[in-house]
Amino acid sequence: MNVWEELREKVVTCNKCALAEGRTNAVFGEGDVNTQVVFIGEGPGQEEDRQGRPFVGAAGKLLDKMIEEIGLKRSDVFIGNIVKCRPPGNRDPKPEEIDACKDYLFAQIAFINPKVICTLGRHSLHTLVHPDISISKEHGRAVNKMGKVFLPMYHPAAALYRRELLDKLRYDFEQLKRLLERGV
Ligand code: SF4
Repeated sequence: MNVWEELREKVVTCNKCALAEGRTNAVFGEGDVNTQVVFIGEGPGQEEDRQGRPFVGAAGKLLDKMIEEIGLKRSDVFIGNIVKCRPPGNRDPKPEEIDACKDYLFAQIAFINPKVICTLGRHSLHTLVHPDISISKEHGRAVNKMGKVFLPMYHPAAALYRRELLDKLRYDFEQLKRLLERGV
């Protein structure tokens, strides 16, 4: 078993936090481990928990559409979450759950070594970049941190029913396209 598969095994059998109790499946994440682009959301929803795959519900379809609009495919990127197990009732993940889970994500990012890490939503932004950053002010602006480029984006779930956030999410993806075109 290689390092990646060992990590997957640890995640799918993990019980480091209370979210293990209510899950159907831990959602490890999926995509190309040789990619330049990683998207990190907050946590699995109902459909993701059922299928054990990230972003497969309505928000996932919107994410796929945005990825395709900038000339990429879902299979070209890696998609994961801050917490790997579903918070009940789709509540926000608690700080202690994020703390318990985030080392798995850091290990995934270290293994993939992408050029750009797109944070989807404020939990991802606050965990990976800084807890005081305002998503409404900083979305679409690349941030350099510890040798990595982070691009704060709105969460597709937030943009599903709010037209103004859909426009902002589309803007965020245009910034990603620009970063990739210039080699980041
Ligand atoms: S959310 Fe993360 S830390 Fe908690 S049980 Fe699932 S994999 Fe383990």
